Order: sequence, then structure tokens, then C-alpha cells
Amino acid sequence: MQIPSPSAQHALDAMRAIVGASACVIEPAEVAPYVIDYRKLYQGQALLVVLPASTSEVSRIMTWCHANNVPVVPQGGNTSLMGGAVPDDSGTAVVLNLKRMNQVTEIDSVNDTMTVQAGVTLNAARSAAESASRLFPLRIGSEGSCQIGGNLATNAGGTAVLRYGNMRDLVLGIEAVLPDGRIFSSLKGLRKDNTGYDLKQLFIGSEGTLGIITAAVLKLAPQQRSASVALVAVENPAAAVQLLGEAKRVAGQTLTAFELISRPALELVLDYLGKVASPLPALHDWMVLIELTSGGDEQPLNDTLLGILEPALESGLVLDAAVASSGADAQTFWRIREEISDAQTRHGGSVRCDVSVPLSRIATFIEAASQRVLELEPEVRMVIYGHMGDGNVHFNPLRPKNQSAAQFLAAHGKSIAEVVDDLAAENKGSISAEHGVGVAKRDALLAYKAPVEIELMWQIKQALDPKNLLNPSKVLPLT
Ligand SMILES: Cc1cc2nc3c(=O)[nH]c(=O)nc-3n(C[C@H](O)[C@H](O)[C@H](O)COP(=O)(O)OP(=O)(O)OC[C@H]3O[C@@H](n4cnc5c(N)ncnc54)[C@H](O)[C@@H]3O)c2cc1C
Repeated sequence: MQIPSPSAQHALDAMRAIVGASACVIEPAEVAPYVIDYRKLYQGQALLVVLPASTSEVSRIMTWCHANNVPVVPQGGNTSLMGGAVPDDSGTAVVLNLKRMNQVTEIDSVNDTMTVQAGVTLNAARSAAESASRLFPLRIGSEGSCQIGGNLATNAGGTAVLRYGNMRDLVLGIEAVLPDGRIFSSLKGLRKDNTGYDLKQLFIGSEGTLGIITAAVLKLAPQQRSASVALVAVENPAAAVQLLGEAKRVAGQTLTAFELISRPALELVLDYLGKVASPLPALHDWMVLIELTSGGDEQPLNDTLLGILEPALESGLVLDAAVASSGADAQTFWRIREEISDAQTRHGGSVRCDVSVPLSRIATFIEAASQRVLELEPEVRMVIYGHMGDGNVHFNPLRPKNQSAAQFLAAHGKSIAEVVDDLAAENKGSISAEHGVGVAKRDALLAYKAPVEIELMWQIKQALDPKNLLNPSKVLPLT
């Protein structure tokens, strides 16, 4: 065991007094997974890792850290792709991981709400809703590990935003501990409350820089009993946008997901998954995964899907289509989509750009950005996929086969990200649609946000965290 420095010993004694010795992690091997991010791009050091079990423990931790000027890095499932959930390498921060606060405390099926502690994983929240014959509709690839607190702190999106909205739309109340230990609580579960500023919104998407989210009241939706899923090939992104318009018109509310997949993305994931074959017999440059869901029978839903696909096949808007004929089939289709992110992580050497633009510009954006990136590196593989229904694409150029990840990223990482971000901004878009800012995009904000926005962000930070102790050096660019 490392001998703690005097200040580390001081912090350790204080944390042990609050949470107990077994909830303080100090052994280097046990601390290691808490100080490196999911993609292993950001590695820091921590004074110690603390695992509180209640809001009152979080409050006491924050009170002590505030009084002793100790920085705190809140952490959920540590699945962030932006480096926001791990400490810097100064070794001065306490990592506060919420995983022990994992209770669903109430399901109110009349109010259609569920109250959860922040450390409940997304999977567990979805299962709890299901056990009450309800749906908690947030769906993201990391749902087995990510936590509701992390989902709120990043305003997570995912594959069902088209129908249900992102995390901001799925929450009615929040409890958060402020940097000085005070507790802010709005856990009433009200759909209407116009008594001044909606303060809970400040914490959503703040990536742990304004408060530690400890609990939330989540909205529940009616359970979906049927799903109809298809993977279809289209000529290009413009055709996909046209198909989306048709799908909205024909399927209305039942249209739940509309995910774009480029050919290199499909090739990469099929290679990663090994024995899984593409549902479509031939390879196509562009595909879309469409899902309709409803609380009723499957047959009308299948009919609706065919009502979208048949005329589109006839007119040539859709080149080919595979409709899932069973639940297992549908799962395979989804697995192909969901595993693209991990396939890239394992392969290494992709420049991840999580951008959004208005739907009306998405095809132009993809075309222009692809052209500019190919001018920089003609052999790059254009891994492009994502939630097209929301105008959100993961535009992630992947290293040429004959270049190592390090070579490619050193030569082109920065310039590709700049080209893509510039084009997103030119098309009235955002340089971070759903993954947040963390460290990865922090400094880029200076180029893409108006000075007044940066100034206001700092003023809010100053009001809540005047000592800059909560997740310092994340999100807010230094001006
Ligand atoms: C395979 C894969 C697929 C993904 N797909 C999607 C997707 O489709 N859509 C999407 O939006 N994201 C996606 N992500 C990104 C990531 O899973 C989300 O950002 C998720 O919401 C993070 O939750 P987490 O609990 O892991 O948070 P962490 O990674 O632990 O933390 C993320 C940020 O939130 C802060 N934070 C965490 N918990 C709290 C808390 N209780 N209070 C205050 N601040 C806190 C941290 O300090 C950090 O800044 C994906 C990631 C992976 C690995």
C-alpha cells in the first residue's frame, strides 16, 4: 500500500469518518479503474476514491472538501467518451463515485414517475420501470454500466430521442449536493411548476461542474409491447432524410428510432462481432435502421412498416430492405448498430466527432465533411453513424488500414476534428450533440460559442462553485 502523504492522510481520515473505511478506495490497483476513462485516453491520479451510500454522506464529504479546498470529481459508470469523469494528474482530487447509491426508492404508477438514487444503472432503472409495466425510454449502448446521475450530468441522448426526447425531457425533479455541501432538492415529480427559475435544469448537462446529482424523479411512459425493425439500404444521406420524412408521415408517433449507418461502419462492426452476418445480402454505401414501437399488436405495426418500405422500394428511394421476422432478429439488427462504438474503441485510431446539425442540412454536412476529410487523408475509412432522426451523427473517420492509431491521430487527429467541427458550425450545428464537453472539447468551445455564452457559463460556475473545486478543468474553457 502506498503511504499516504500528510494531506492525503488527513483526507482519508475525514472520509473514513464519514463513509467508513471499506468505502474509501486507496490501493493503487483498486483505484486504477476510477482514474482512467472508458477509451483509455485520459488517465489521472486521485487522492482517494470515496463511495458514499447516502445524500447525507455526499453532503458531509462536500462540506469537508469545501472547507479544506480539496477538488472533487463526481463519477458515475465512467462511460463518458470525453474524459470528463476522471481526475487530472495532479493527484489532489477526491473521486466521488455514486455506485453505492443504487436504490429505486419509489415507483408512482398513478403519477407515472420513478424516484431513483443517482447510482442506479440505466439498465436497472429500465428493469424497475418494466416491473411496474412501464417504460423508462432512455436507450444508449452503455446502459449496463452508465448511471442515471451520469445520464443526467451529460444530458444523455441515444436511440429513442426521436420519440421520447433526451434526458432533459425525461426528468421531473432532481436532488443535488452543492459544492459547499448544501442540498438542493426538487423531488416532487410535478409536471407543472412555474415558481421561478427551473433550477434543476442547471445541473442537467453540467457534467459534474455545478453539483453532485444524488437522486432524480424520472418520467415513465407506457410500456411498448410490439416492435417492428428493418435495416434498409439507401443511395446516400439525402435519400435517408427523404425516407425519414416519409416514415414520420406514415408511422407518426410509432416511429421510435431512425439510425444512419455508413458502409465502413458496418464493415468494422461485422468484423468485430465475428459470426454475425449483415441482414442485407449485399453491401451498400448507406443504410438506415428503422424501428417502430407500440403498446398494441404487432401486425398493424408491421403493416405500417411495410407502408413505409413498399412505396419507397418501388420508387427507388430504398434500394433494399431486410425486415426483422422475430424478436431475435430485431436484437441482431440492434446489436450491429449498438456495437459500432465499441468496435471503434477496440480498433483504435478514430477521430470521434459527435455533431448535430438541423435535419435540413445533414446531407450537405455529411457530404462536405467527408470530402474535406478525404482531402486530408484519402485512405481514411468514413465511419459515420448515429441518430439521424435527431440530426445527430457520430462522424468518426477511422485510420487507414496501413497506419497505426498513434500515427494517424498524431498526423490528422486535430485537423480532422477542426474540419468537422467547423463544418458543423457553418451548418448551424453543435460540436457536441450528446456526449458532452469534458476535457476533449473544452478548449474548442472558445471557437464555437459566443463570448457572452462562455462568460455566462463562468458566472454560473462562480455563483455555485466560487472555489472552483467541483470537477475543475472540465467543460469550461479558460479565457
Ligand atoms: C458503448 C457506448 C455507447 C454510448 N452511447 C451513447 C449514446 O448513444 N448517447 C449518449 O448520450 N451517450 C452515449 N455514450 C456516452 C456515455 O455512456 C454517456 O455520456 C453516459 O450518460 C455517461 O454516464 P456515466 O454514468 O457513465 O457517467 P460518467 O462517465 O461517470 O460521467 C460523465 C460526466 O458526468 C459527471 N457525473 C457522473 N455522475 C454524476 C453525478 N451523480 N452528479 C454529477 N455529475 C456526475 C462526471 O463528472 C462526468 O463529467 C456511450 C458510451 C459508450 C461507452
